[in-house]
Amino acid sequence: MAEYKAPLREMHFLLHEVFAADQLWARLPGLAGAVERETADAILEEMAKLAANTLDPLNRSGDEEGCHWAEGEVSTPAGMKEAYATYCEGGWGALLGNPEYGGMGMPKMLGAQVEEMINSASISFALYPMLTAGACLAIDTHASEALKQKYLPKMYEGTWAGVMDLTEPHAGTDLGMIRTKAEPQEDGSYRITGSKIFITGGDQDLSENIVHLVLAKLPDAPAGSRGISLFLVPKYLVNEDGSLGERNGVHCGSIEHKMGIKASATCAMNFDGAKGWLVGEVNKGLAAMFTMMNYERLGVGIQGLGASERSYQNAREYALERIQSRAPSGPQQPDKAADPIIVHPDVRRMLLTQKALIGAGRALSTYVAQWLDIAKFGEGEEKQHAEGMVALLTPVAKAFITDAGLECTVLGQQVFGGHGYIREWGQEQLVRDVRITQIYEGTNGIQALDLVGRKTVANGGAYFELFATDVQAFIDREGGREEMAEFVLPLSAGLQCLKEVTASLIARAKEDPNAPGAASVEYLHLFGYVAYAYMWARMAAKALPKAGEDDFYKGQVKTARFYFARLLPRTQSLAASVKAGSGTLMDIEAELF
Ligand SMILES: Cc1cc2nc3c(=O)[nH]c(=O)nc-3n(C[C@H](O)[C@H](O)[C@H](O)COP(=O)(O)OP(=O)(O)OC[C@H]3O[C@@H](n4cnc5c(N)ncnc54)[C@H](O)[C@@H]3O)c2cc1C
Repeated sequence: MAEYKAPLREMHFLLHEVFAADQLWARLPGLAGAVERETADAILEEMAKLAANTLDPLNRSGDEEGCHWAEGEVSTPAGMKEAYATYCEGGWGALLGNPEYGGMGMPKMLGAQVEEMINSASISFALYPMLTAGACLAIDTHASEALKQKYLPKMYEGTWAGVMDLTEPHAGTDLGMIRTKAEPQEDGSYRITGSKIFITGGDQDLSENIVHLVLAKLPDAPAGSRGISLFLVPKYLVNEDGSLGERNGVHCGSIEHKMGIKASATCAMNFDGAKGWLVGEVNKGLAAMFTMMNYERLGVGIQGLGASERSYQNAREYALERIQSRAPSGPQQPDKAADPIIVHPDVRRMLLTQKALIGAGRALSTYVAQWLDIAKFGEGEEKQHAEGMVALLTPVAKAFITDAGLECTVLGQQVFGGHGYIREWGQEQLVRDVRITQIYEGTNGIQALDLVGRKTVANGGAYFELFATDVQAFIDREGGREEMAEFVLPLSAGLQCLKEVTASLIARAKEDPNAPGAASVEYLHLFGYVAYAYMWARMAAKALPKAGEDDFYKGQVKTARFYFARLLPRTQSLAASVKAGSGTLMDIEAELF
């Protein structure tokens, strides 16, 4: 397996050249003076070292050993505790946190790239701090001042971790059906009783305390999703002076044995009259939980990206070294028994598909992070605009980057032939690890429904218009550059196709209730390929003038060309599928399946 080397050059290119992040940071009220280019680069370099030297070496052994459960306590594989301690000592848990409670207040654009490196090194490890960061965000946004002061500083330190408890055996996607109960107590707290499953990090031996954010229903709550409230339930109760007190009534009943991310503990949790505190308003828990889930959704997209990059680095190195057969045009290395497999067009197709999907995925996650920063630190109309963009693009980033993640890791495995299927090279682990990203945090099918339904049809395409206007402004700006025509013209055609499909879908949804669901996954992919075309066109616009003088820029331009020639055309078959409507899906009776 190749040694992991963080793609710092690509990250700098995106931050400083494509998105001019320091100009944005300098003008956003909450960020001005807090971060500039040098700080950002230093942070990225530090994480590159931590990821390569401390986290990456644990990925294989963590997969081999997995987590252990005994008498209600979970232990993580050898080395995780020490790595987690190093991570916390470095202050990484505080990176994006609110400075009022000990956070560093850094922008998500930087955080997204830091997260990519952690996930390339180990998705299993990354999950523990990622859930804590999401829980902190929900607490910071919705909890009382007293809860914030009590919990946030320790959670930013990483001394206490955070997790989210939504899923129950009979209620996964449909959270309106949850049964966990919350009974009000005289002292203002609640008694929480019920069972949750699949809780990532529900128990572990990394942190001193675990703060559960739990969805539950009050006794008189309305039925369905409008009757759900959110509660903070610590594993150990916290005394007034901040020290740990009694063990609370929340225990891990077992852990799951699963396909991948084996060093991440997936726990069945029992709440037996556990003491909890309301976060936000009664019956508005789902909205509060969405603060955490939206944060996690981009994070899950970045998991797909991280695994793809790791797989690509291995495949690239292997393709340069493995010799099999001769190049179709004749021997390239006649002194050897065969040529390296990188001479074969099909191996190049696999590597370039990875490289093109990864480059655009990294750009898209940085782009979405940019809108998250404007939504968080901006003001007035600009802030509102950014919130619309985040709402629209979050399901695309989560589902499209993770679907591309499976494609990329499978391609990376394929480059190795049979050696990709056996454990030795690590490629099969990446396929297993990345697979969950298409399922948790709302399946990719549900992300697609969200994009089509709530984010597009429900507002008559208002959010879509924001995105289309942004892409069109780029086309108008760059359309005059002759050398950009090879990118701008197909991007413009792709945008036109997406606009037409969106308009016809909004119209059809009024007459056919099955229309959005029938089109949703293909529509999300169509959207994703056009968004990736926009990202590659933006990267090409910056790389073209320097392509003659520097191999990095040359590589960017050539990859952009591959994307436009070989991957963007996938939109044509997707558009045809979306236009086919719901007829053939709904026509067949259930018993005929
Ligand atoms: C390793 C792992 C870690 C996890 N971590 C957490 C965690 O930390 N916290 C937590 O609360 N949960 C967690 N989960 C749960 C995860 O989020 C759920 O498994 C997921 O949301 C799907 O729910 P489900 O498994 O009940 O599937 P179901 O909801 O039963 O769905 C089954 C299938 O039906 C489809 N479907 C359902 N409803 C619709 C619809 N309306 N339209 C179209 N299709 C539909 C789904 O897309 C899916 O393909 C984790 C799960 C795993 C496996």
